[in-house]
Amino acid sequence: MEKIIVEKKVLSENDKLAAEIRTELTSQGILALNFVSSPGSGKTSLLENTLKSIGDKLKIALIAGDVQTENDANRLIAAGGKNVFPLVTGGSCHLDAKMIDKILPKINLDELDLLIIENVGNLVCPSSYDLGEDMKVALISTTEGHDKPLKYPGMFRRSSIMIINKIDLLGTSDFSVDEVKKNARQINANLKFFETSCRTGTGLEMWFHWLLNEIKTKKNRV
Ligand code: MG
Ligand code: ZN
Repeated sequence: MEKIIVEKKVLSENDKLAAEIRTELTSQGILALNFVSSPGSGKTSLLENTLKSIGDKLKIALIAGDVQTENDANRLIAAGGKNVFPLVTGGSCHLDAKMIDKILPKINLDELDLLIIENVGNLVCPSSYDLGEDMKVALISTTEGHDKPLKYPGMFRRSSIMIINKIDLLGTSDFSVDEVKKNARQINANLKFFETSCRTGTGLEMWFHWLLNEIKTKKNRV
């Protein structure tokens, strides 16, 4: 009982801080996306491709969360990321608003178009922690089970976008795109889907197009 009360208090404090972060970013017209998935679904690969393709047109800041190592941050820098901030949690299996709040003062928000947060690979608790983002973008790869949306409903309920990645590997397992979409829609009828492969480039143009459009929409609201 006491544990539940403490957890509730932590989450309500987190939500308050996240709301402040959202207000700050929104006042400057910055789109903020929180990328979530299991480990190995391809978050970093998708972000590398995004940087390489549209990174020159935009001012992007990236916060790369991981339990240990700055490997992902280094990959994003190598892909051309100019404002990459590693966030090593040292054990915590999710990011929280306090961690983001600590990094924000280091980021020059002037003229920033997009803030990308790569969460720790974990489909459970990152769903409960609002980081002040506009949307959660959930990745699922074709090497996973297509019942994942049913197994981790919280994550897919709170996400706006679902990217089905490693689409080039379809046919090497029992994974079905139709099934995963059907399962995901059962949890969240409003999910928008993308199908991508970072190896072959399939579907990436549609993702970039959507992203550029969202950035423009957010900017125009200021
Ligand atoms: Mg990663
Ligand atoms: Zn956690």
